[in-house]
Amino acid sequence: MTLPLSSPLSAIRGVGAAGERAFAAAGVGSVGDLLWYLPHRYEDRSNPRRIASLTTPDTTVTVVGRLVQIVERRARNRHLRIVEAVVDDDTGSLAVVWFNQPYLTTTLHEGMRVWLYGTLRPARSGWGLQLVAPEWEVEDEEESPVHLGRIVPMYRRVGTWSGRRVRTLVARALEGLAEITDPLAPLLPADLGLPPLGEALRSVHFPVPPGDGTRVDGFFEDLAMRRTPHHRRLAFEELLALAVVLERELRRRHRQQAPACAVTDEIRDSARNVLPFHLTGAQRRVLAEIVADLQKEYPMARLLQGDVGSGKTIVAALSALVALASGHQVALLAPTELLAQQHHLTLSRLLRTTPYGPELLIGSLPAAEKQRVRRGLADGTAHLVVGTHALIEDAVVFGRLGLAIVDEQHRFGVAQRQALLEKGEAPHLLVMTATPIPRSLALSLYGDLEVSLLDEMPPGRSPVRTVMRDDASRPKLAEFLRREIGEGGQAYWVFPLIEESEKISARAIASHARAVRQALPGVRVEVLHGRIPAVERESVMAAFAGGDVGMLCATTVIEVGVDVPNASVMVIENAERFGLAQLHQLRGRVGRGRRRSFCVLLTGKDCSPEAMRRLKFLASTSDGFRIAEEDFRLRGPGEFTGLRQWGRPEFRVASLWLHRRELEAARAVAAAAAQRGELEALATAVRCPGELGPAVPAG
Ligand code: ADP
Ligand code: MG
Repeated sequence: MTLPLSSPLSAIRGVGAAGERAFAAAGVGSVGDLLWYLPHRYEDRSNPRRIASLTTPDTTVTVVGRLVQIVERRARNRHLRIVEAVVDDDTGSLAVVWFNQPYLTTTLHEGMRVWLYGTLRPARSGWGLQLVAPEWEVEDEEESPVHLGRIVPMYRRVGTWSGRRVRTLVARALEGLAEITDPLAPLLPADLGLPPLGEALRSVHFPVPPGDGTRVDGFFEDLAMRRTPHHRRLAFEELLALAVVLERELRRRHRQQAPACAVTDEIRDSARNVLPFHLTGAQRRVLAEIVADLQKEYPMARLLQGDVGSGKTIVAALSALVALASGHQVALLAPTELLAQQHHLTLSRLLRTTPYGPELLIGSLPAAEKQRVRRGLADGTAHLVVGTHALIEDAVVFGRLGLAIVDEQHRFGVAQRQALLEKGEAPHLLVMTATPIPRSLALSLYGDLEVSLLDEMPPGRSPVRTVMRDDASRPKLAEFLRREIGEGGQAYWVFPLIEESEKISARAIASHARAVRQALPGVRVEVLHGRIPAVERESVMAAFAGGDVGMLCATTVIEVGVDVPNASVMVIENAERFGLAQLHQLRGRVGRGRRRSFCVLLTGKDCSPEAMRRLKFLASTSDGFRIAEEDFRLRGPGEFTGLRQWGRPEFRVASLWLHRRELEAARAVAAAAAQRGELEALATAVRCPGELGPAVPAG
């Protein structure tokens, strides 16, 4: 018991230079790193069965007994080498067979006591059962078994090291591990019942079921769900590291000097003049929150979260007006050219009576036009700009950027948000998202942001009716579309993007559009996808928005933001290929006006039962928050949170969903430490998982 966590891996017996290199490549450099390299699942190999009781084929069992025979038998197939054995446990004997492991006849000997774990199959002789290719371990009087006879941790391989060898190594590391004092012990919230680090590390690798073993099933499930106190202790540490990062960001922002904004009666009047409709109560409340922020000394950082169609654009426009009227420049960043073009059009109309006509900056503009817009932004003659990623290129310089707005925030990473902010001196930031996310995730991704909720729809909306259909209903669907479009409605027909090649998907859409044209004579059908030049795209979109186009066949380029209130039908081809959040976004393109709207989920032949359940769930609710929670839950313990994309550390144990209590507790601990001026001390006490190298993708 002498190894500290910081010892190099080579301090463990059996690790040479090559082993060290393999582990280093996986981000494992020390004993501590190795112990944070967690099993991705467990197998219950405890409770050996009596051989006499084994009568059911195809069950997976553990047996322990004496080897009474072991021989290699020549198979007729020259490439196959078969080792056959017999084990005996006093209640009976069992035939065992291994393939292509001839070394077993020299490793295992008659008379040895062995543990075996494998699946029973009908014996070749046709009589009785045999254990096929089991995992094995020779019983050692001195030590408890590592690979068998317990709940066994399963590891991913590391370079040439099999999961089994990694297990042996972890067992040795734990055996030699020195006493660990847990630096976080005084900080662990008492009500969470978290064990100290040393105990947690031991138990997540070699868990011991509590007490008399009657609760093994429940315990096993807790392990699989990473719910044991030991898992939660490790998760807490990771979440605390995240909380420290978030707390730092918050403190940094509060020390900055914001561009001053004032709200005068004049501004109120011009805002009122601009409004094409009455704001909803929620819009008014959210706007008040934003305007209050804009008047503070430190820069605003606010997330505006509102379901699809809740009316975020007008809130952004009015916020922009306040900053513009105080003499600042405003930038609005959108994820697609289509959306940027639409926002540019909307803002041009809204702000027609003000001196703040917007500019457009997207990648597909002619170079000279981009040049002109950039010059205006640099010398301050351009006040307001809408754009895509082209806005955050180095060549773009602002004279006095006061407010940065990011629409469909979830489509951008923290680096892009940061790049935009760096174009000004601590400008205000408003980020908007229509993909509602659970509170625990919001706290983690946007921890440094205040959150405003737009929880009310504009008046006159009726929920979109969602139905599921398959190929057999195509003729009926065509008839329905003909009627709906005949009565003045408009429709989208969306295709999953074929990822391997945009060219193929463009062709597939074109040929589909021909079929649709045939089925809907007299209806103008147009096509929209990423490869269509911007100018053409704009004119197609304008024709659709103007009601001249009845049916738009599109890829997911229309997924976010597109706003054509008269569109009333959304048909989604191969709906099973989309995730819940994406489907909800797509459906959100209809039901934006007074017309009764429909969403048709077309399923293909190979729609799995699980996908079916997902689609049914979508059809059963229009509540974006419930859908987001479900989406999150469905992804299970191995959810991909994409934290790294946000400049956040990836987790090995923690799940923002499963460990939401630990997350809230960690945030409280970090906030309290900051209050006491001890944030940096806390940062050093926490073993930041971000420094662990590439994380193991969770289960
Ligand atoms: P999202 O929140 O999805 O970005 P939009 O800002 O695109 O929503 O608004 C959806 C539609 O609702 C737009 O056509 C917009 O003009 C309209 N709208 C927004 N607010 C109101 C309101 N208070 N009253 C009536 N219509 C509104
Ligand atoms: Mg929008």
